Amino acid sequence: MPRIVERVPLMPMTPGTSRVLTVFRYGRAGARPKAYLQAAIHANEFPGTMALHHLAPMLDRAQKAGRIKGEIVIVPTANPIGLSQVLTQTHLGRYDLVGRDNFNRNYHDLAEPVAERVGGKLTNDARRNVNMIRAAGLAVLNEMTPANEIQDQRLQLMRRSIDADIVIDLHCDAQAALHHFISRRDWPAIGDLSAQIGAVAVMYNAPYPFTMTFSGCNGSWWSKLKDMFPDKPIPQACESSTIEFRGQHDVDHALGEADALNLYKFLQRRGIVAGNPGPLPRARCTATPMDGMDVGYAPSAGVLTYLKPEGSKVRKGETICEVIDPIGADPLNARTQVKSRTDGVLFSRRPNGRLAWPGMVIFRIAGPKPLPHRTGKSGLDD
Ligand SMILES: [Zn+2]
Repeated sequence: MPRIVERVPLMPMTPGTSRVLTVFRYGRAGARPKAYLQAAIHANEFPGTMALHHLAPMLDRAQKAGRIKGEIVIVPTANPIGLSQVLTQTHLGRYDLVGRDNFNRNYHDLAEPVAERVGGKLTNDARRNVNMIRAAGLAVLNEMTPANEIQDQRLQLMRRSIDADIVIDLHCDAQAALHHFISRRDWPAIGDLSAQIGAVAVMYNAPYPFTMTFSGCNGSWWSKLKDMFPDKPIPQACESSTIEFRGQHDVDHALGEADALNLYKFLQRRGIVAGNPGPLPRARCTATPMDGMDVGYAPSAGVLTYLKPEGSKVRKGETICEVIDPIGADPLNARTQVKSRTDGVLFSRRPNGRLAWPGMVIFRIAGPKPLPHRTGKSGLDD
């Protein structure tokens, strides 16, 4: 049985134009566990797409050999809207040019509508509850009517992911070392994925509330429903996380193949693909709280230059970068240093360009202790 290729037309936004979401499916529909992987929801983040490009033939071979035991859904480019945003020879991702939405926001929190449907019917059998909740979640999504193309795209993605046991959303940063955003509820269970992919920073958010990201919305409704119905057994039935496969320019066959192999081994480890994944690589870090993530902002306008490469271990008070005023009268006093406010790992150097403007996010550091200026922020927004 070859893989199934599903082509999903999105709602046209202008006469005579249309875009299509392409989905690859492996295994038998309804088989468990189900894994859902997508890449490039921010459109211009292709390391994950490259990983899925290499994963697909691995899964084709596994399928041919009868080694796929669960169900696997893959969306190599999850955002055809953003893919088409080419302006003045430049591909603009992250934000929708029509409504300025961040492409990884405004997914659907299904906890409330599903609670209304299943609240009186929950049983003392966890497995039955999971099946009932998944069916209700799908029914809620299937009854929604999108008002435009971006809403349609969000719905089409969630309709394919919401009943999965594992959701992996593949992103990247501008220049970055490999890092992993998870929910606190999933640690340490998901630590095997962090270790397998070689993450140098793993950061956890509270299970909810959170910014309405794709991976957040696929995982958090279980935690919410559990808290809404404390007398009924409701397990965390979906492990949902975001992998940041380094920087935007880290797109090559060697990285893509290695990343794909790591994802494949993770699927083996969870029994979705048969076969021995071999020993788990030693974890390169432990998980740290999102409140401990320092975010550096440009203090002024200027030219940005970094003193540390991404992936560096840094100490509190160390200079990470400088913002240089190139037209300052005294060049020696024209450099403003921006320092780390935590010990930790400099996992991201944010902008692709080197022009800085006041308030621009210029770096992010994973640190172990909550920071006063970060408390209460989910961190994914900046
Ligand atoms: Zn992204």
